[in-house]
Amino acid sequence: MNEILLVDDSELSLKVLQATLEQEGHKVITASNCQDALRLLALTTPRLIMLDIVMPDCSGLKLLETLQADEKTVHIPVIMVTSRSEADDVKTALEAGAFDYIRKPYSEIEVVARVHSALRIADYQERLLYLSTHDGLTGLYNHVTILNKLSQVLEDTHSQKKPFALLMLDLDNFKSVNDSYGHQFGDHVLQRTGQLIYEHFSKYGATGRYGGEEFCIGLKNYNQQMALRAAEAFRKLVAGLSWPGKPADYRISTSIGLVSSENSPSESIEQLVHRADKALYQAKQSGRNQVCLAGD
Ligand code: GH3
Ligand code: MG
Ligand code: MG
Repeated sequence: MNEILLVDDSELSLKVLQATLEQEGHKVITASNCQDALRLLALTTPRLIMLDIVMPDCSGLKLLETLQADEKTVHIPVIMVTSRSEADDVKTALEAGAFDYIRKPYSEIEVVARVHSALRIADYQERLLYLSTHDGLTGLYNHVTILNKLSQVLEDTHSQKKPFALLMLDLDNFKSVNDSYGHQFGDHVLQRTGQLIYEHFSKYGATGRYGGEEFCIGLKNYNQQMALRAAEAFRKLVAGLSWPGKPADYRISTSIGLVSSENSPSESIEQLVHRADKALYQAKQSGRNQVCLAGD
């Protein structure tokens, strides 16, 4: 259900709008001032906000600015609600990022049409955002996004003076998996590996498809020893999987390069990726299906 937040100091306006939108099957929450609106927004993320421009305790335009400046709320479309005399404000609101506006007194039909149009666009935007940040095959973060997320996780971890570990994981001899059993099976292997990576690690940091058959995993608050244990357990898990339509002893393995920021807290994510990559190369050179720790 689409939750809509209405912000208006007039109780009557709120009631009328709420009734109209609820009749259309929307869930509506209301705030009669900016402070209450911000309190609600800290608890929930509505699909749409309808915001009165003029309120006694604060300006709707000021609140719009605050919403636009916050990455948690910038993607929520805002429809400004205004009386006829506020043409300049409408211009300012649209320029500041409002999606649309409705003039009071409004017709029910128009309100519903504008709300639906805003929700439709919000859906498209959400899908576009998802497609541009996630890998189409595995559903994990794509290359650009995982690097950004890892940077954020690294920054957070360091600001709390906690350790951070990075794993680069590559499927072994994957070209021959494709060559022997076809790309569809290869895709299935990538999807299943990606799903397992997500299930095992995403709640501890960030997981993504770095490219091809290579994945990266950032682990918050993991020291070197904990990360080694986790990497080793995951390597074993994949190496023990059985695969559909394949003989019972058919195995697919992974090599993992691991780097910990424990002894080098000033390293950037690029430097850590570089060192994890070198450790991964080492794992390949040493016979694959193993975890290698990065040297200094
Ligand atoms: P190594 O153990 O050294 O990593 O050998 P490898 O064969 O895994 O590595 P190589 O880099 O030679 O080959 C990687 C293969 O991964 C080649 C490429 O076709 C395949 N690949 C990359 N992306 C995809 C994909 O999206 N789907 C499928 N099916 N294969 C992919
Ligand atoms: Mg490989
Ligand atoms: Mg590779």
